[in-house]
Amino acid sequence: MGTKIGDHAVVLGGSVAGMLAARMLSDSYTRVTVIDRDDLTAAGTGLRPAIPWAVHIHALLERGRQIIEDLFPGFVEDMLAVGVPVGDYGSTCHYCFNGQMFAETETGMACVAANRPVIEHFLRSRTLVRPGVSLRESTDIVGLEASEDRSRIIGVRVQGRNGGAEEVITADLVIDATGRGSRSPRWLEELGYERAPEEKVQMDLTYTTMDFVGPLENDPLGDDIALVPTATPAFPRGAIFARLADRYALTLTGINGDRAPTDREGFLAYAKSLPRPEVYEAVRDAEQRSPAGSFRFPASIRRHYEQLRRFPAGYLIIGDAACIFNPVYAQGMTVAALGATVLGKHLAKGVEPVPAAYFRDLASVTNAPWTMSAAADLGYPEVRGKRTIATKMANLYMPKVQAVAANDPLVARAFIRTISLIDSPQSLMKPSMIGRVLFGPGARGKLENPANASIAPVASLPSSEKAAQNDVERPAA
Ligand SMILES: Cc1cc2nc3c(=O)[nH]c(=O)nc-3n(C[C@H](O)[C@H](O)[C@H](O)COP(=O)(O)OP(=O)(O)OC[C@H]3O[C@@H](n4cnc5c(N)ncnc54)[C@H](O)[C@@H]3O)c2cc1C
Repeated sequence: MGTKIGDHAVVLGGSVAGMLAARMLSDSYTRVTVIDRDDLTAAGTGLRPAIPWAVHIHALLERGRQIIEDLFPGFVEDMLAVGVPVGDYGSTCHYCFNGQMFAETETGMACVAANRPVIEHFLRSRTLVRPGVSLRESTDIVGLEASEDRSRIIGVRVQGRNGGAEEVITADLVIDATGRGSRSPRWLEELGYERAPEEKVQMDLTYTTMDFVGPLENDPLGDDIALVPTATPAFPRGAIFARLADRYALTLTGINGDRAPTDREGFLAYAKSLPRPEVYEAVRDAEQRSPAGSFRFPASIRRHYEQLRRFPAGYLIIGDAACIFNPVYAQGMTVAALGATVLGKHLAKGVEPVPAAYFRDLASVTNAPWTMSAAADLGYPEVRGKRTIATKMANLYMPKVQAVAANDPLVARAFIRTISLIDSPQSLMKPSMIGRVLFGPGARGKLENPANASIAPVASLPSSEKAAQNDVERPAA
């Protein structure tokens, strides 16, 4: 693998960002140790205590899928082998805004309907077999070890979850991938560094998910994968209804304190209040598979480490530890993957990454997804955050794009490519696209989307048996 940059790199956190970072580091460091508080081996493809939100539907955006496929060839094949439904984002995943279903279109982008623990398990099993990579699980990371002058991080302090004394693990490079609970701001402050400026968008979102046993009597999906009545300021209750490997799942979202109840009756009443009837009708009489789970998400938070004037050498931050996204836009895993590509680019220089340069590049791959999700959230008048003229313009224009996408497959495709982080948001602002959105056939109602006239009939379900291998445990209610 060529010359190594150093002997030992340590990754704090063994989830999506942590495993992707370890994969990158394994080319450049002789040993890579991933540390996590959970017993990841025992978790397998099941839930684990540190990630309670894994019960909720996770979509992997196309950009993230492409990066994962590049790093671990055979990702989609492996998912198909365990029964995960895979289909085109534009024709098997039905987006709906303000009650209008998008026109069907082939995008060439694969929607992989794997649940979160299955994706994590895949990343873990492919990373941990790489030469030099090892896992210290059931281990709490309690702090950083710095050089005497505090200009460099030289290791971490850890403690086994089953007791025992605190221990120092030394490293040439330490990467924080501990997610939303990252203690980097506090640890760095204790070492005499400034806190990174934070940007917040406070929407007080709640996810509530209930799983159902298939086949469904009233199935709006057939062989398709998902129906996504997305929340908008006009219809602030949203949903993701998906066919997974072993079940159907319905996630209901509410913002500004509005939350779907977890009891069946209340959950169904909430589903009934969505702007499209198909979701409620699909689950109304369906057999519930497990107790509903609920997760509250108060705010998106971006930590601008690139704006710090001083930062210790030998320390980097990736994934949710640097930026926590509103989950409804499904960006988190993909931005973690983008962060891994940034890390890879810096490691490819053959020298230890320089934090300032790394964080500058991390900021540049974070900008587009952050701007898109923050702008969409700030379209709700009650959501707290900084509104700019660009935000206001975006919130005037995007509902028009979404409305035209209901009739015009070309606009639907362009929108889906943008939210999949394949094309930049500017691609929707090209003069040709603006012309199509404002004056094209879809805008003039000359193209008609049959999905908005009547709902597609139930198609036959594929065998649900192949799904059994992929079973995921649910927490107690
Ligand atoms: C409800 C919900 C739905 C979501 N849906 C989507 C979606 O559809 N698509 C998408 O791309 N993203 C989604 N996300 C976001 C996604 O979960 C994360 O962005 C993504 O997993 C990247 O996380 P990470 O690896 O940075 O951190 P995490 O997944 O949070 O992992 C952090 C790891 O660090 C470990 N850890 C933390 N602190 C310590 C410590 N002190 N000692 C030892 N170990 C520690 C934890 O055990 C954990 O394994 C969703 C999030 C939520 C909350």
